[in-house]
Amino acid sequence: MENRIYNFSAGPAIMPVEVLKEAQEDFISYKGTGMSVMEMSHRSKTYDAIIKGADKDLRTLLNIGDDYTVLFLQGGATLQFSMVPLNLMQGKADYIVTGAWAKKAVKEAKRVGTVNIAGTSESENFARLPKQEELKLDPEASYVHYTSNNTIFGTQYKTEPEVGNVPLICDASSDILYKKIDINKYGMIYAGAQKNMGPSGCTLVIMKKDLLLRSQDTLHTYLNYKIHAENETMYNTPATYAIYLMGLVFKWLIKNGGLDAMYKTNVEKAGILYDYMDSSDGYYKPTVTVKEDRSLMNVTYRLPNEELEKKFIAEAAEKGFSGLKGHRSVGGIRASIYNAFPTQGVAALVELMKDFKSKN
Ligand SMILES: *Cc1c(COP(=O)(O)O)cnc(C)c1O
Repeated sequence: MENRIYNFSAGPAIMPVEVLKEAQEDFISYKGTGMSVMEMSHRSKTYDAIIKGADKDLRTLLNIGDDYTVLFLQGGATLQFSMVPLNLMQGKADYIVTGAWAKKAVKEAKRVGTVNIAGTSESENFARLPKQEELKLDPEASYVHYTSNNTIFGTQYKTEPEVGNVPLICDASSDILYKKIDINKYGMIYAGAQKNMGPSGCTLVIMKKDLLLRSQDTLHTYLNYKIHAENETMYNTPATYAIYLMGLVFKWLIKNGGLDAMYKTNVEKAGILYDYMDSSDGYYKPTVTVKEDRSLMNVTYRLPNEELEKKFIAEAAEKGFSGLKGHRSVGGIRASIYNAFPTQGVAALVELMKDFKSKN
């Protein structure tokens, strides 16, 4: 693609170029309306079709039934760290702590009630996920909260933790829609849009309707899931343009074969990188210590020393590979290869890594 570089940013992150082009076509006048989506009332007929379409396409992609509500909120995944306990915690809740985001979720939950750390790998700098048998779950907990993909530490759950009858709540900010999942296993899933779904500004919430009964009328209005659900996301002005772009991404996914096809590509893409690293005689070393826990979205790795890492990032940037610097708490390299990231870009990165290794 002319003047597009390889964008490995962890978030906000790459979006499908087809989606950007479509938005560009619609930018000044959306389908003959004489105005941009940005300029129209969120209560107009035209916009109603846009948001209803996004809801419908998302439901198709994830096979979401009528017993779940879908909300397009604001405040990022970060506001969900507060809204989840404020609405759903009745005394105590279990948190599985697998990284920096989970810790932030715990911090807010502690303001509301008792947090039981049901499992953590912090003593190993989150280089793996706690195993099922390591979890100390409380059957009386209001819910179990976990992070499906750890954007910073490069670990990812390939299947949900088993939590019995306690509602499972997932922060899926950095891997939602990377594959088909069974929604019925979840009480709630939330995700900021800006990693795997669109631009920043909108947070998706998918919630089992019976959990809405827990929201108390004493809550501040904007913080109350029940209010948002009753008003179908339109209690106040939603992030209209971000939702429009998310809708285009959902259509792009459907057009390209849906989430099974996406998953196949994601396995292939991450495989190219991990396979090469595993054959690099330890020159490139994934930071995740358990193979099954390696993320398909954020591939984190180290070089033999920090000097080489700096050099690698600098040389990569010169050649049009952007956003490869690892998070400061892990160091090293992080290649974020979300749904929209092209396979050919991953192959190009491996070529660059081979070349760098032979010269250094
Ligand atoms: C980025 C991220 C967040 C924070 O999202 P905001 O939208 O910036 O609030 C939370 N959880 C995970 C897993 C993330 O990757």
